[in-house]
Amino acid sequence: MGIEKALGDTIFTTQLSKAVNWARKWSLWPMPFGTACCAIEFMAVQASHFDLSRFGAEAMRFSPRQSDLMMVMGTITRKMVPVLRKIYAQMAEPKWVMAVGSCVCSGGFFRSYSVQQGIDRIIPVDVYVNGCPPRPESFIKGLMEIQKLVERESLIDRKRRIEEFYKRLEQIN
Ligand code: SF4
Repeated sequence: MGIEKALGDTIFTTQLSKAVNWARKWSLWPMPFGTACCAIEFMAVQASHFDLSRFGAEAMRFSPRQSDLMMVMGTITRKMVPVLRKIYAQMAEPKWVMAVGSCVCSGGFFRSYSVQQGIDRIIPVDVYVNGCPPRPESFIKGLMEIQKLVERESLIDRKRRIEEFYKRLEQIN
């Protein structure tokens, strides 16, 4: 990030950024943040039939410090909100977030005071995967969308987008 900031958008940094993004795209290290049934469906995604290693994303990490893709799956209760926020903060930049399942995207059918109505009111979400639960194919489609984002977005653009998200969040709250 320091080099990109210092040199700005030159041909050198643009080409370097493309090469780095290509490598990042094919070596994502996801961290499953699973709390309910969607996380069970995710087990199928990891098994041999759907084979996540085709996308270079089979190395699951259960430590936020070793991950760059947070996959949030399952109902997020309000009590879990500080935990989710803290774990996200512990991940190093650049990092991406995939919201998997209706519960995570919007609260799903839990229209309840105790359930968070969408995690994009807490942390920036990059890709939404709907379904209750989503089929393994939808998980994979979501991962491919993350890969596209990783490939096309420079770190400077990403930083701007995340800053805008937090500004919007401040205005809402
Ligand atoms: Fe369970 Fe459906 Fe919520 Fe997924 S979206 S956690 S399957 S209730």
